[in-house]
Amino acid sequence: MNYNVGSNNISSSSVLRTLGLKNPKLLLLQTCSNLSQLKIIHGHMIRTHLIFDVFAVSRLISFCIETPFKTNLLDYASRIFSQIHNSNLFIYNAMIRGYSGSEYPNQSFNFYIQLRRLGISPDNLTFPFLVKSCTHYGSLAMGVQAHSQVIKHGFEPDVYAQNSLVHMYATFGDIKAATHIFWRMSYVDVVSWTSMIAGYGKCGDIECARRLFDKMPEKNLVTWSTMISGYARNNRFDKAVELFRVLQSEGVQANEAVMASVISSCAHLGALEQGERAHDYVVRNKMTVNLILGTALVEMYARCGSIQKAIQVFEELPERDTLSWTALIAGLAMHGYAKKALKYFSEMVKTGLTPRDITFTAVLSACSHGGLVERGFEIFESMKREYGLEPRLEHYGCIVDLLGRAGKLQEAEKFVLDMPVTPNAPVWGALLGACRIHRNAEIGERVGNILIQLQPEHSGYYVLLSNIYSRANQWESATKMRQLMKEKGVKKPPGYSLIEIDGKIHNFTIGDKSHPEIEKIERMWDEIVRKIRVAGYTGNIADALFDIDEEERESALHRHSEKLAIAYGIMRTKARTPIRIVKNLRVCEDCHTATKLVSKVFERELIVRDRNRFHHFKEGACSCLDYW
Ligand code: ZN
Ligand code: ZN
Repeated sequence: MNYNVGSNNISSSSVLRTLGLKNPKLLLLQTCSNLSQLKIIHGHMIRTHLIFDVFAVSRLISFCIETPFKTNLLDYASRIFSQIHNSNLFIYNAMIRGYSGSEYPNQSFNFYIQLRRLGISPDNLTFPFLVKSCTHYGSLAMGVQAHSQVIKHGFEPDVYAQNSLVHMYATFGDIKAATHIFWRMSYVDVVSWTSMIAGYGKCGDIECARRLFDKMPEKNLVTWSTMISGYARNNRFDKAVELFRVLQSEGVQANEAVMASVISSCAHLGALEQGERAHDYVVRNKMTVNLILGTALVEMYARCGSIQKAIQVFEELPERDTLSWTALIAGLAMHGYAKKALKYFSEMVKTGLTPRDITFTAVLSACSHGGLVERGFEIFESMKREYGLEPRLEHYGCIVDLLGRAGKLQEAEKFVLDMPVTPNAPVWGALLGACRIHRNAEIGERVGNILIQLQPEHSGYYVLLSNIYSRANQWESATKMRQLMKEKGVKKPPGYSLIEIDGKIHNFTIGDKSHPEIEKIERMWDEIVRKIRVAGYTGNIADALFDIDEEERESALHRHSEKLAIAYGIMRTKARTPIRIVKNLRVCEDCHTATKLVSKVFERELIVRDRNRFHHFKEGACSCLDYW
């Protein structure tokens, strides 16, 4: 059968002739290739009273639903439906199916109710789409109703109904209900396996998802994509990248969705080499760099410390939306390139795109890192005035940060107290951080105590407050803070640093000796210390006694993780190769000083991403100008 006849002038006689053959479906599919042709056919059917033939009209509606056209014919189908007086199950099934994936999925349910009112019995083709419509509509309650209808009409053993139910429950994160059906299915296909993997990923049980994934007899690309994005969603970025390697070794061809997950995982890991390889894969396989993939690439290069490349990729993107611009602006902010971030921000506005909440967070944090107080305030005020966006807590936090870094601590405190919304812990936290930098124990004490009341389980505030006291030489209060933290049983998150060597991520966690070369690495660090001491590093434990910062204080047993990562980087890379490190906590003062000296003595560029920003260490100085 030739489906591509598609001539633009079908003669009315041919329509009639073929409709007369009582095989209208064949005709419609064969010759109709656009809406105006469909209208001609519809018109003929009205004039020839064929519209009253339930079989013919059902074919017409079904054609609208299954349309190969780009235009949505669902509305057209609805209009035909509303004009007919006799309907059958075939027509209802078509309408239920058509609406299930549409903008108004709840319409499917209405059609189902009508169907039942007419006393027509549903069949096995009714339920998969009825259930799908509930999933699409986002209503578990409706889904449960649909499920009870499936049972009532005896279609529970039907594989399509089961598949749709598994998918529905998994999507709503009701993994128990999904599992219940899944393990009772007589025939399980790749779709239901994949639904289950997605469901486990959604409710955070990624190990269970992986067990199912490994057990599956056959996988399709959606399965791979679901598993990889499941890892990324559950912050198991290393696993996402690892699984992508498995995918390649099994000869599966990845698609854009898979690559976006892999690339954004590389961004989180700071794994530049693997990120570059993934980018290369995209280019080699001639993939379409769509908006999501493009944004992921910009973000990856920025977050892996290669901001120049991020700019280059951004400039070459075939299409850009607010999110891609925001990714670049946020990247520039993290690297401390405030002026450049502002330049891109105004360019973005010029293109006619409307900045979003997160765009403002990025721009304001750029102003803060660059110390651009006035400009920051202007932009903050423009949010509401020009864009009608009500500033959110994170934007207030940026302003507090902005004032705080600039040393305007009183103003910052006043700003927080006068805020029209109740300040949350991060807003106060920004002020506390500023008190630490500027060694203001008076405001610091007030703010620190508020924070400890707000979030008694958050270790960082005790630590910051203790630091503030110790810097103001209030040793007793500092010790008290640390005791309080111990009494409350507050645990600090373990500090870790990641370094990528030859495409493999090495994780150094404080106190963890599991790295196979740990002894060599520790000897290397001792060697480094000997050399940087000559250049003025004191790093003596007595000095750092109370400066515990976020990680454990320096001791022979507990060495801050980035020091080990630096030592390993120097051991394993050629002279002058830049060393890139990603750290989960804020860099402490001692590590910052040591890294500056390493950059000078070893003539290395070190790029460290900490929780807040990038530090580019070069020739004994840091891009943050010791202000972080
Ligand atoms: Zn440190
Ligand atoms: Zn720095």
